Amino acid sequence: MNTPIYYRPTKAVIDLQAITHNISSLQNYIGPTIQIIAVVKANAYGHGDVEVAKTAIEAGATMLAVATPDEAVHIRENFKDIDILVLGASPHTFIPFASAENIILTVFSTEWLQLAQQYTPLLNQQRLHIKVDSGMGRIGVSTKEELMELYTIINSSDDFLVDGIFTHFATADEEDSMYFDNQATLFKDFLGALPQKPRLVHVANTATALVKDPSLHYDAVRFGISMYGLLPSSYVGTKLPFPIKPAFSLQTELVHIKKMQAGQSVGYGATYTAEEDCYIGTIPIGYADGMIRKLSGQEVLVGGKRAKIVGRICMDQSMILLPEAYNVGEEVVLIGCQQQEEITIDDWAHKLQTINYEVPCVITARVPRVYK
Ligand SMILES: *Cc1c(COP(=O)(O)O)cnc(C)c1O
Repeated sequence: MNTPIYYRPTKAVIDLQAITHNISSLQNYIGPTIQIIAVVKANAYGHGDVEVAKTAIEAGATMLAVATPDEAVHIRENFKDIDILVLGASPHTFIPFASAENIILTVFSTEWLQLAQQYTPLLNQQRLHIKVDSGMGRIGVSTKEELMELYTIINSSDDFLVDGIFTHFATADEEDSMYFDNQATLFKDFLGALPQKPRLVHVANTATALVKDPSLHYDAVRFGISMYGLLPSSYVGTKLPFPIKPAFSLQTELVHIKKMQAGQSVGYGATYTAEEDCYIGTIPIGYADGMIRKLSGQEVLVGGKRAKIVGRICMDQSMILLPEAYNVGEEVVLIGCQQQEEITIDDWAHKLQTINYEVPCVITARVPRVYK
């Protein structure tokens, strides 16, 4: 495979060794008999699905989970043998392809299953994981009757197999565990109603895997956010069983520097006016890269020092107030470490009043992901 050439210096650098470290540490913590399902949906939370999947498999993950059928197709094109689970709703028109390519689908209602029947006989037996809605209120069966009905229909058909059952927690990352405990109990009750335990029972997302009772690891855990070295919440951070390493950094270079006199302004709307003589640097990254305008005022790192983004962020460029004169080509770190300083994805999330999950996801495809 040719390594593409990128002329613009703006890039997301992904540390695959950090991902290996996070997966190995989790495996060590949960023990060798519990499987790791690497969650690589949304282009691996913006980190790059193929490279992250490859790293995860090498580090011991036995299954990859994606959100959509199209994501599954992309993974299957690159990995012929690994088990792939589509967590979300797949249109029933996807079933013939899924069967041919051995992609595991989520079944979440009898209505979906009835539509699925129209594609029988299938090329290969279609493996299904039943999704139980124990309190997330998203997709899944929410009564034991519907669960039993689904289970019976699937078992009466040679074309379909109940390969797994799972649920998803709404509050696993919070300190108050009442809602969580109710979900866990409900799921256990549903599971107990099945005449036979499917091959793979899995309920734990990152937060559950790291800080909840190990009995909830069941057969496999679905490892998402902390595989990328990010915390599901600050509460989980206070109870981490092992240190995690962030994999995502974002960097660019100064493309222009100018000396500005007090009273001169910068950017659209001339919203920033220099209070004293200063150096302003221009960096080739803007809101079309996912560095949205709300990040005006955010700090970046240059020469190991903090510098503020000043004025409005443009579509493709932004300006920063430099602590001193630098040369064109000087490295600017937007997310990550430089010398003794660090700017984290959580810093961006705080500035944007959102969660860290959202930050790498919204760095657009114009920013190349390069790997180290
Ligand atoms: C996204 C997702 C996960 C991963 O959650 P993290 O908090 O990132 O570990 C697990 N299960 C389901 C169903 C998901 O949609």
